[in-house]
Amino acid sequence: MGKATGFLEIDRKDRTYDAPAERLKHYREFIVPHDEAGLKGQASRCMNCGIPYCHNGCPVNNQIPDWNHLVYESDWREALDNLHSTNNFPEFTGRICPAPCEAACTLNIVDQPVTIKSIECAIVDKGWKEGWIAPQVPAKKTGKSVAVVGSGPAGLAAAQQLARAGHSVTVFEKNDRVGGLLRYGIPDFKMEKQLINRRAMQMEAEGVQFRTSVEVGVTVSFASLQENFDAVVLAGGAEDPRGLTIPGAELPSVRMAMEFLTQQNKRNAGDDELRAAPRGSLFATGKHVVVIGGGDTGSDCVGTSNRQGALSVTQLEIMPKPPEKEDKALSWPNWPLKLRTSSSHEEGCEREFAVLTKRVVGENDVSGLECVRVEWIDGKMQEVAGSEFTIKADLILLAMGFVGPRKQGLLEQAGVELDPRGNVKGNVVDYKTSVDNVFACGDMRRGQSLVVWAIREGRQCARAVDEALMGVSELPR
Ligand SMILES: Cc1cc2nc3c(=O)[nH]c(=O)nc-3n(C[C@H](O)[C@H](O)[C@H](O)COP(=O)(O)OP(=O)(O)OC[C@H]3O[C@@H](n4cnc5c(N)ncnc54)[C@H](O)[C@@H]3O)c2cc1C
Ligand code: SF4
Repeated sequence: MGKATGFLEIDRKDRTYDAPAERLKHYREFIVPHDEAGLKGQASRCMNCGIPYCHNGCPVNNQIPDWNHLVYESDWREALDNLHSTNNFPEFTGRICPAPCEAACTLNIVDQPVTIKSIECAIVDKGWKEGWIAPQVPAKKTGKSVAVVGSGPAGLAAAQQLARAGHSVTVFEKNDRVGGLLRYGIPDFKMEKQLINRRAMQMEAEGVQFRTSVEVGVTVSFASLQENFDAVVLAGGAEDPRGLTIPGAELPSVRMAMEFLTQQNKRNAGDDELRAAPRGSLFATGKHVVVIGGGDTGSDCVGTSNRQGALSVTQLEIMPKPPEKEDKALSWPNWPLKLRTSSSHEEGCEREFAVLTKRVVGENDVSGLECVRVEWIDGKMQEVAGSEFTIKADLILLAMGFVGPRKQGLLEQAGVELDPRGNVKGNVVDYKTSVDNVFACGDMRRGQSLVVWAIREGRQCARAVDEALMGVSELPR
């Protein structure tokens, strides 16, 4: 334990952000990190609880009290090794994880959780800065080969673990760069992409081969993977977006959030934004933007629209406004339902809750959106009579979530059984699909989720594959 009285003496103080007016001028990250002394103080607040609820709240089961103690002792190197023992990519989660660990922290009972995510991020950022993070090349090769389809966090975690176990790993990615939604969904201002490039270089040095711009099921057949590899891991994500089926939804300026976000990330990278964008360039500049969907994707559209110079941004959510503050007696240590205000919301956005969209208004293109307010009674939605209203809109971005993995191509050819939700069927013990030597993990198996869950599944799936190929595995679960 850091300091027995740390939590009594020191208040929670988290990282801060650059001011909205400043950060809206660019697409870079804008978090102001702690200095080392400040971090040591924050780490010393950890009580090393008898039951560390934080550790259980974390999907990769990061050994949080251990590295809090190590940071307090200034043993950063050991803290880094400890962090890497459960998480391949803490610099991703240290930036974009919603931090269920902090919700579960005992000190959250009094709204003062340890700043776990900031400490995690600082440990790994220091590790890279000091040159402590190097490729871990396996001492011997097994002679077995594994194909991983998809290079999001699940595919990357699985590939890195399998390569370190000595297998020859090839990652197939249909996009022109690796990273999945880390690369093309999540905006640069939340996570800059050189972080993915750096990990990809580490993985290449560990023996992983990346084959980008190769769509399995189109460019190469699934059967060719089965012929040429001892095992196949399906980590293709849940890419099928939920559409809008109201009248007028076919108008040209009703667009998918991912089309919008991907283009901006490509622009930032200096890539061809029109590759795989058949409907042309998309900008929010000078437009009244309405974002339908209240989640992470919607919030990312808000931040991107404001950076592009939208005239106004309105975000609509069909569910009622959650409480500003949770009832801890009911929710702790679980993830609470409460109003979450992201940095993008702080930059400027009207948020409307309990609103149903009825019709997109416009002749040749969008000019507005007709809506009605709704009430939720016993879990059932009812329109409120007389509450109809119209919002001015030039661009409508659809961010209503994803219904599951795309079925055409890869999954059709693989012939794997799907679960009732349309995801690839497989359990979290052996990650096997219904087809021999074919495994599945991440959003493709569990449905739309979080980066930290994708990393967990990738790691666990790698162990399952290693066990299936070798009979035993020393990879951690
Ligand atoms: C806009 C947006 C913002 C988000 N923000 C956050 C956040 O802040 N924090 C958080 O924790 N989570 C966030 N998420 C969710 C998170 O990004 C995903 O849960 C996570 O990336 C899933 O990882 P994955 O590896 O399973 O799949 P993905 O990241 O979707 O990667 C799948 C990859 O497989 C490739 N692929 C698919 N089919 C084929 C094929 N046939 N051949 C070759 N390649 C193929 C795809 O091109 C893709 O690169 C966000 C999601 C979105 C859409
Ligand atoms: S729950 Fe909070 S205080 Fe307790 S061990 Fe975890 S981080 Fe430390």
